[in-house]
Amino acid sequence: MTAVRAGDDVVLFDMGVNLSEVLLRDAAFERLHSRELADMGAVPDDRIVGELDGTVRAIVFSHGHLDHVGAVGKLAHRYDAPIVATPFTLELVKDQLAGEERFETGNALVSMEAGETMPVGARCELEFVHVTHSTVGAVNPVLHTPEGAVVYGLDKRLDHTPVVTDPVDVERFSEIGREGVLAYVEDCTNAERTGRTPSEAVARARLRDVFDSLAGSDGALVATTFASHVSRVASIVEFATAMGREPILLGRSMRTYATTARHFDYPIPADVAAHGNRAGIERALRRVANEGRENFCLVVTGHQGEPNAVLSRLARGETPFAFEAGDAVVFCARTIPEPTNEGQRHRLETLLRQQGVRVHDDVHVSGHLSREGHYEMLERLQPATLIPAHQSLRGIASYVALADSRGYTPGEDVRVPRNGTIIELAE
Ligand SMILES: [Zn+2]
Repeated sequence: MTAVRAGDDVVLFDMGVNLSEVLLRDAAFERLHSRELADMGAVPDDRIVGELDGTVRAIVFSHGHLDHVGAVGKLAHRYDAPIVATPFTLELVKDQLAGEERFETGNALVSMEAGETMPVGARCELEFVHVTHSTVGAVNPVLHTPEGAVVYGLDKRLDHTPVVTDPVDVERFSEIGREGVLAYVEDCTNAERTGRTPSEAVARARLRDVFDSLAGSDGALVATTFASHVSRVASIVEFATAMGREPILLGRSMRTYATTARHFDYPIPADVAAHGNRAGIERALRRVANEGRENFCLVVTGHQGEPNAVLSRLARGETPFAFEAGDAVVFCARTIPEPTNEGQRHRLETLLRQQGVRVHDDVHVSGHLSREGHYEMLERLQPATLIPAHQSLRGIASYVALADSRGYTPGEDVRVPRNGTIIELAE
C-alpha cells in the first residue's frame, strides 16, 4: 500500500495482503482485526497515513491480485473516500468485501476504464493507463499533480500480443514522460532477470504444443494455473475443447474468476461448468469417473501445492477421482520462490509421480517486467525519482543496480522505501 500526498490531498494505492503470514499461523483472516493482522505483517500497517498532513480523497486499485486488493475489507472502511478501480478489478474488490466478516465497508465504489481520468481533490487528476499483466483489467494509475506525475507502476509486463486484452499502452507512457514524471514507483519482481519477459502469446503457443502432444492420450488431463489469469484459463478451455475434451473448472477461486470474466465477456464460454464448493466438485468428479477420464480436461486450483486446493486433494485420493498411470498434469505456473510454496509443491509433484502421472512443468511466462522492460520504461517515462517497490531488499537491490547503470544515484534519485518511510519529492 502506497500513500501519495499532494497539497492537502492524499491518494492511497492498493491494499494488499501477505497471505503466507496468515496461513502459517492457521488464523482465520476473515475474522481477524486489521491491527492484529498488521502486527503479523499480513496487511499494511496504515497508521502512518494519520501522520500525513492531508485528507484521503481516493483509494485506487491497480489490479485484482490479492497482494493488491486482499486487505480492502480490513482497511478501506477507515477512510471517507471512494474506491476507484477498473470494472473488472472492482468486481473482485466487491468479492473481497462480501467475504469480510469483521468490518462493514460503506465506501462509494467508482469504476473507471483504462484511458480515462477523474479529478481528485482540488489540485490533482487521476489517470488509468492500460497495462498487461497476469490478470485482466490491470492498469498503472497515474496521479497528475501540479508538481508532476506520480506513476504507480505495479504490476505489469510490456505485452504487445496479449491473448484476451489490448496491448500495453506504451505510447501513453511516453507522452506522460514528455509532460514530466516526478516519481515512478516500480515493481522490481524480476529486476534480476535479463532480457525481455515473453508475451502471453508465447505461453499460449507452449500450451498448445503440450496439448497437441497429448491428443492421442486416453488418460486424464488436468491443468492448473492462477484462477485470476483469465487469458491462460481461456486458452486452456479453448485447446481442451478443440481436442474433444470437455473442460470443467474446479475450485473456489476458479469459479469466482470465471463468473467475473464472463460478466465482462472474456472468452470463457457460458456452457463450461465451474464448481466452487465441495459438493459441486465431488459431483463433477464422479461424472468424470463414470463417463471416462479421456473425455474431460479438469482446470483446477492448486498450482503451488496448496494443501486444501483441488489438485492436492486429487493427488491425495480424497475425491471420487483417482489418478492412474499415464494421466497428465500441466502446471501453467511457476513455483513462487518461497519456502512454503516450494515445500508444498515438491510434496505434490512427488505424490503425482508416485502414481505414474506425467508432469508438464512451467508452461508459463511471467506477468512482470524483466530488465529490458525496466530499461524501456525508464526511457519512456524519464522519471525524476525512482521508488523501487514490491520486493524484498534483495530484489530491490537488483533494480537499484539497474537504475544506477542508467545514471540514477541511490539515495538521491533512487529512494528505497521501507514500511512507514516518507519520501519527499517536491518542496
Ligand atoms: Zn499482480
